[in-house]
This record gives sequence, structure tokens and C-alpha cells, in this order.
Amino acid sequence: MPRRPHTLRFGKIVILGAGPCGLACADELTRLGYRGWTLLEAAPVAGGLAASVVDPAGFTWDLGGHVVFSHFGEFDRLLAELFAPGELLHHDRSSYVRFRDRWVPYPFQQHLQDLPAEDAEACVHDLLDVACRRREQRLPADADFATWLHGMYGSGLVERFFGPYNTKVWVMPPEQMGSSWVAERVAPVNPDEILTAFSGTAPPARCWGPNSTFVCPSGGGTGEIWRRLATRLEGDLRTGARVVAVDPEARTVTLASGERIGFDYLVATGPLNRLTTMTAGVPSSVRASAGRLRHTTVAVVGLGYRAPTTDERSWLYFPQKNVPFYRATNFSKYAPANVPGADTDTFSAWMTETSMFPRTHLSCSRLISACDRSVRCHGLVSEHAPLASAHTELIEYAYPVPTLDRDAALAEVVPWLETRGIYPRGRFGTWRYEIGNMDHAVKMGLDIARRLVNGTAEELPATAPAAVAVAGGRV
Ligand SMILES: Cc1cc2nc3c(=O)[nH]c(=O)nc-3n(C[C@H](O)[C@H](O)[C@H](O)COP(=O)(O)OP(=O)(O)OC[C@H]3O[C@@H](n4cnc5c(N)ncnc54)[C@H](O)[C@@H]3O)c2cc1C
Repeated sequence: MPRRPHTLRFGKIVILGAGPCGLACADELTRLGYRGWTLLEAAPVAGGLAASVVDPAGFTWDLGGHVVFSHFGEFDRLLAELFAPGELLHHDRSSYVRFRDRWVPYPFQQHLQDLPAEDAEACVHDLLDVACRRREQRLPADADFATWLHGMYGSGLVERFFGPYNTKVWVMPPEQMGSSWVAERVAPVNPDEILTAFSGTAPPARCWGPNSTFVCPSGGGTGEIWRRLATRLEGDLRTGARVVAVDPEARTVTLASGERIGFDYLVATGPLNRLTTMTAGVPSSVRASAGRLRHTTVAVVGLGYRAPTTDERSWLYFPQKNVPFYRATNFSKYAPANVPGADTDTFSAWMTETSMFPRTHLSCSRLISACDRSVRCHGLVSEHAPLASAHTELIEYAYPVPTLDRDAALAEVVPWLETRGIYPRGRFGTWRYEIGNMDHAVKMGLDIARRLVNGTAEELPATAPAAVAVAGGRV
């Protein structure tokens, strides 16, 4: 059984990982008057998955298409502390799905009137059919994702969009995934609204979801947020400090350099399966549960073109098998400073994301050529625009996959660690995609700091399904 939340009087807090969660935790500890923390980051810079890089040609890239939006006042306040009003650029989402010969506004299921007539007819027919059936019989709470999709949207939409798109993103068929995470991640449909849209009298709202508006730092990419937060921390933040072993009995972490650091409480924001492997004394059943957790790897290919930024859209989805990426983000549109000299009359920048199984052999040059071909072929830049830069980032742990047995695995692993004063938090610490965005990571970091210092309860529990409005991201 987990111990009661600790009230910290004497003790040392070590934080593993200086991504949004670890940084927010250290910042909050300082605010609460506890300055004895040590924040250990394996990478040379802070920011984790939300960091940004500048390539040799001067293009800035995020590690995959990040949009900054928030469910939490505390996240908004943090942004307001770190940025002067003009330093954040505000955007209305403009997002589309490539379908056959056309662009269908996102969310796809709310714009069936924009499909070719035959496709629209099949989708609407099946959608109305399942809506009737749902009135008679609710979907089971433990339905797998495929059953949930079929039950919510019908075969027409699943075959045309949800099936291919989700299989591409998750590199796993929806049958092998749970559905408890969908909440705000997959937009609902109202059959009456869909029919009204066909009559042309009342188009459905195009601003579904919490990311219908978002912000982007005017320079430095999304990573600028975390660079600034790391800079304002006054304390023991160490980069290039990889933790390789955790000993819950001796209460030490060991760094790759061999140095040992003592802790009373450890907040661990790296991947949970790795944490379990490097922790001494973990029973084999707990280790086996952690071993069942699945994740995707994503290859981000940033393509900089010597061609002006003319496309007004924010990001685009590609369910097609013959397009390597599932999403392309118009990164020069997010902020002019994302291209060299902030010169969007000369440059444009598309950031593509391709999902794959972890440890897949990747030929970067082949992927770059395939992405470039698709970007041109779908008209995102002109056929003859010179390529000014091609930058690749491989994100080994990209998406924590909500598999059918994920929650059972987490229910074994997390309590074992917590009873030993080790608190896994953040995107891959909790392994819960539904609370896997930057604002969630910050909230978890703030809350665990408060719990350790004041004994207050956390709002986003690490194992049980979150009770608050969660998960505003994009699938
Ligand atoms: C492709 C992609 C797209 C995304 N899009 C969005 C979006 O649009 N909006 C949004 O809000 N969020 C988005 N996210 C999620 C966002 O990146 C995460 O929410 C956020 O980075 C999580 O922060 P974290 O601190 O929990 O974890 P991380 O960012 O993963 O940070 C963990 C840190 O721990 C460090 N670490 C790991 N192991 C060790 C070790 N052994 N020793 C020392 N340090 C270690 C890592 O180097 C890393 O810096 C996206 C993520 C991806 C991959």
C-alpha cells in the first residue's frame, strides 16, 4: 500500500529529468522555500521532449509538432511569468486532413459534408446507425479502441480515417489499445449537427477542443519556454548527468560518472520501464509489468525550403499509407523566427513526424527524400522549391501507447515505487498519454512538489484514471 503523502521536514529531494515536469517541480520547491533539491538531466540541455534545436542552416525545430495550450491556470501563469505579452504569438488552429484529392477540415468526423458524395453517404449512414444502437446499448467501459471507434463513429469513418490514421500514429492496430484515454483526444460527433451541415444552413463549429487556439514563443521554438524556466531556477541543476542506478534501500542514485547522490524522495520523470530496470530490488512481477508498457519512436524530419511561407494552415494530417508521415506542421507559420533571419519571404519550414516501432533501423537519407517528395506532391511547397535544409531528430520515447493492459501494469509498478519514496511523474513517468502534454507535465511537477513539502493531494493521480478534465492533445 502506498504510504500517506509525506510532509517534508528534513530530507533531500532529487529530481530525475529536466523536462517540463522536473523543471516545474524544482521551481515550485524553490517557491515553497525548499532549496535543497538536485535536478539531474542526462541531456546537455533542459527541456526534454519539449526542447527545440537550431540546425546548421539556421532553422529552428521542435521535437515533433508542439502546440502550447493549457488546461491549467497555473500553466498560463507560468507562461505569463516567463514571457512579456509580445513574446508569445497567438494562433487560431487551422488544421486539415488529406483525404483522396482534397483537404477536409479537422476534426474529420465533423466535416463529412466536405467528403466526396459516396464517402459522405457511407460515413453518415454508418454514423446514424451506430448512434441509434448506442441509444439501446451503451458501449462497454472497457471496450478496446477499435470497438469504441466502431461504436462511436461506425465502419464508414473507421475504414476511411480512424483505422488508417491511428494505426499509423500508434504503429499498433486499435484492437490492441484501450479506450479509457480518449476523453478530449478524439472529437465527438452530434448526428443532428452533421445532418444540418449537409443542408448548408449551419456549418458545424470548427473550433472543437482545447487546442483550437494556441501560442508559440516568438523565437526559440517551444523549447524557449523551458530554457527560460531552467535559467530562472536557482539551485543544483546538473545537465549531462545521467542516472544509471537507483537504490531504494541505500537511498542513492548513481550517475554514469560513478558519483552517488543520496535522496529521501526521488521524483523520476524519465521512462517508467527504464526506471524499473535501473532500480535495485524490484520484484520480477513488477519488472514484468513495466516490461509490458509500449511506446512509439518518432522520426522528426524538418524540411527548410528556399521558398516563401504562403500556406496559412497550422498543421495537416495524413492517414495515407503512401505518405511516410502522419502529420506535417507549418513551422514557419508558428513564428517567423523559426526560419533563418526570420525571413519568411524567402524561407518556409515544414516539420514532419513519422511513427515507427522502437529500435527500427532507419535510413535518414531515404526518409528525408520520401518526406520531401510527399511535401511537394501534396502541394505544401512548390515542386521546384530548393531544399535549404533537412534536419532529422529521432525521438526514441515519443508516445506512451495506451495498450489494453496498460492500467493494470501501472497499478503494479507505481505503488511499488511510491512506497519507497520514488515518485514517477510526467509523460513517460506516468505513461498516460491522456495526461501526457506539457501543461499536464507542469501540473504534475507542481503538485508533487506541494505534496512532498506540504502533504497536499495531487490533482492528476499517477495511476487511477484522472478525474479532472484532461487530455487536450491531438491524435
Ligand atoms: C511528437 C510529439 C509531439 C508532442 N506534441 C505536443 C503538443 O502539441 N502539445 C503538448 O503540450 N505536448 C506535446 N508533446 C508532449 C510534450 O513533449 C511532453 O508533455 C513533455 O515534454 C513532457 O515533459 P516531462 O518532463 O514529463 O518529460 P520529458 O520531456 O520526457 O522529460 C524527461 C527528461 O528526463 C530526462 N531523463 C530521462 N532519463 C534520465 C536519466 N536516467 N537520468 C537523467 N535524466 C533522464 C530526459 O533526458 C528528459 O529531459 C509532444 C510530444 C511528442 C514526442
